[in-house]
Amino acid sequence: LEEYKGKKVLVVGLAKSGLAAAKLLHRSGAEVTVNDGTEAEEGDAKIQELENLGIRLITGSHPVSLLEEPFSVIVKNPGIPYHHPFIKKALEKQFNIITEIELAAELCEGTMMAITGSNGKTTTTSLIQAIFKNDHREAAVAGNIGNVACEVAPQIKKDQIMVTEVSSFQLKGTRQFRPKVGVLLNLFDAHLDYHGSRNDYEHSKAKLFQNMTAEDTAVYNYDQKEVKRIAENSGAALVPFSTESVCENGAYIKGGMFYYKTEPVMAVERASLPGAHNKENMLAAIAAAKVLGASNKAIDLALSDFHGIEHRLQFSGIVNGRKIYNDSKATNMLSTQKAIEAFEEPVVLLAGGLDRGNTFDDLIESFRKIKAIVAYGETRDKLAASAQEAGVNEIHRTEFLADAVDKSFQLSESGDVLLLSPACASWDQFRTFEERGRTFMEYVEKYK
Ligand code: ADP
Repeated sequence: LEEYKGKKVLVVGLAKSGLAAAKLLHRSGAEVTVNDGTEAEEGDAKIQELENLGIRLITGSHPVSLLEEPFSVIVKNPGIPYHHPFIKKALEKQFNIITEIELAAELCEGTMMAITGSNGKTTTTSLIQAIFKNDHREAAVAGNIGNVACEVAPQIKKDQIMVTEVSSFQLKGTRQFRPKVGVLLNLFDAHLDYHGSRNDYEHSKAKLFQNMTAEDTAVYNYDQKEVKRIAENSGAALVPFSTESVCENGAYIKGGMFYYKTEPVMAVERASLPGAHNKENMLAAIAAAKVLGASNKAIDLALSDFHGIEHRLQFSGIVNGRKIYNDSKATNMLSTQKAIEAFEEPVVLLAGGLDRGNTFDDLIESFRKIKAIVAYGETRDKLAASAQEAGVNEIHRTEFLADAVDKSFQLSESGDVLLLSPACASWDQFRTFEERGRTFMEYVEKYK
């Protein structure tokens, strides 16, 4: 990071990633200013840390006068939209605006692998890490998954791998980001409010591959037209994955086996993650790991012993004969649809949460499959209406999740799947989807 030595840089947004970026730039000898719109609270550990380092801090507003200063780069928190007046002004003034992920990549000496897509990022990232772990290779996960990339990157050595989960928000703010292996899982209509249009969203995801050359590899979903187009228009070496076609230059399924190129890797039925969507994630993980030389044994070990990540269609044990799945992360209809479709057993679904004004008509098709639904929270009436439309026999409504869990035990029997997959954000009753998932598990535990 020699290039930042003695340069004036501005970090906008003092979240965890902003703090890490500011510290990193400071260590590289840059003259750092941090600006956050919220008023600093006394005793805030982040502020204290910056003050101890002597980093200039401006909080409470984003003064436009700051943009009179000659910053050579602005590191913007991905959560701050580009139409924010301050950022708009900075763009008008032609400042070089990047996100923290690019800074991390510049600094990482090891092999950078980046995973993006609308859905399945965390699962795929974790699968890849598990594969390398079984090969006894050092692979650290970072990015959206929770570990700040700017904190992880400096610790990665030359022969190690940094498996980074990147969001479209982070990608939008990259210029020279060039991972050695990039994985594009899928593109659904997500986050359109942030990006303004589907075009902009796609364009952001395409940035994953934009600086790649034939020495780098694009792993991509062959079954999705836009994803395919994006990858094939890049300069990267191509490794497709597909659940539908035999892609002999990539990963695919044939005769009940996962294949990589012409080599059978493992039996599909040995894999522990349920659902068609997880087949995609596993194929992507196999492809990406194989590109960096993973062994079939490690893949087999990792994929046969992976029970999902907390709150993501996570198998959470058998309680009173019911197979409990916590999919609290499912905050939209698509995720809930995937979850329902993942099971062959009768499903008793718990769903509901924050009312964003939408109907649940898109779930009607999936609801035809379920045995019963207990709808709770703000959206309970709307969910019940869609379940009615689908002809679900048992439809129940409760205000709170606790009663919903009780009801779901009454409605289910041994061998059924009891699935929390809310299709809504949690904020009507919980602070986060993690809190919702944990609370669900606490109520379930009572039936042990
Ligand atoms: P992300 O990190 O992209 O949010 P996760 O791996 O955390 O994705 O999975 C979140 C939810 O998205 C899952 O519970 C599941 O319902 C859905 N999902 C996961 N993988 C896929 C996929 N490949 N295609 C469609 N939906 C998926």
